[in-house]
Amino acid sequence: MGKKSHHATRPLSELLRVGPGPVRLADRDPAATPGFPGKGKDDADRFTGAAAVDLSDLQERLYANSKVDGPPAPSVLVVLQGMDTSGKGGVIRHAIGLVDPQGVQIKAFKVPTEEERAHHFLWRVRNALPRPGMIGIFDRSHYEDVLVGKVDQLAPPDEIAGRYGEINAFERELADSGTVVVKCMLHISADEQRRRLLERLDNPEKHWKYNPGDVDARLKWDAYQAAYEAALELCDAEPWHVVPSDHKWYRNWAVAELLREKLSAMGLDWPKGDFDAAVERARVEAS
Ligand code: AMP
Ligand code: MG
Repeated sequence: MGKKSHHATRPLSELLRVGPGPVRLADRDPAATPGFPGKGKDDADRFTGAAAVDLSDLQERLYANSKVDGPPAPSVLVVLQGMDTSGKGGVIRHAIGLVDPQGVQIKAFKVPTEEERAHHFLWRVRNALPRPGMIGIFDRSHYEDVLVGKVDQLAPPDEIAGRYGEINAFERELADSGTVVVKCMLHISADEQRRRLLERLDNPEKHWKYNPGDVDARLKWDAYQAAYEAALELCDAEPWHVVPSDHKWYRNWAVAELLREKLSAMGLDWPKGDFDAAVERARVEAS
């Protein structure tokens, strides 16, 4: 697919990608708009709408590949991580919502149930992986076990330290079996989170979104940022992308665009039918 005006000025898979070496979130501006080809919200809404056309086409190709005989079709797994209010739900609504819901499997990871806690931390994650041809969305993920798990010391330190390697092995296994893993950290500032929490409190229609527990996590902001930095740095088997998310319009456009780039790079062709189209045409016409 050629370059279009709603595409990033340079691929977001490069611009937002976390490179090797130490990660410092404080050096990444959460209000930046890397690669954005326009001026602001109005452009972003327009570009995101335009991206929908490409995204739907690509998603349909992916799905179509799972509907024919042959080797298992590939799948895509979008991992969304970020502090409370960073907009994981907003991204699902505004970016993922651009494609046919029949081709999407969404899984939100909450505090593990008693059954989940009785298993290895990847057990519930393996159970939620996208089927061939599907786009899976993780709203939180296995990374919680090195984020809240680390900050709140939910397991012994050596066990948590061992999880980074386990996550790398797991993600390598996913990639080898045909799942394209797209990892996004929605990066917001502490000030922006404060504004969003206050906005929820000030509007009774948003009270359902407010969780007093979010303030407890907020009070551990620095510990969370450090835990994110460790995860971004150590879990490099599949690339991480840090999406500046203080501007919701940029965040939504960027995730849609990144997904478009990743799907596009899969080089998905329409599968061939296992019938003779001319023969079938004659049969339909004669019917
Ligand atoms: P929310 O996404 O706002 O509905 O909140 C889900 C909550 O579940 C968050 O507070 C997460 O930190 C928590 N959570 C998700 N996964 C885990 C996990 N593996 N261990 C502990 N808490 C988790
Ligand atoms: Mg929440």
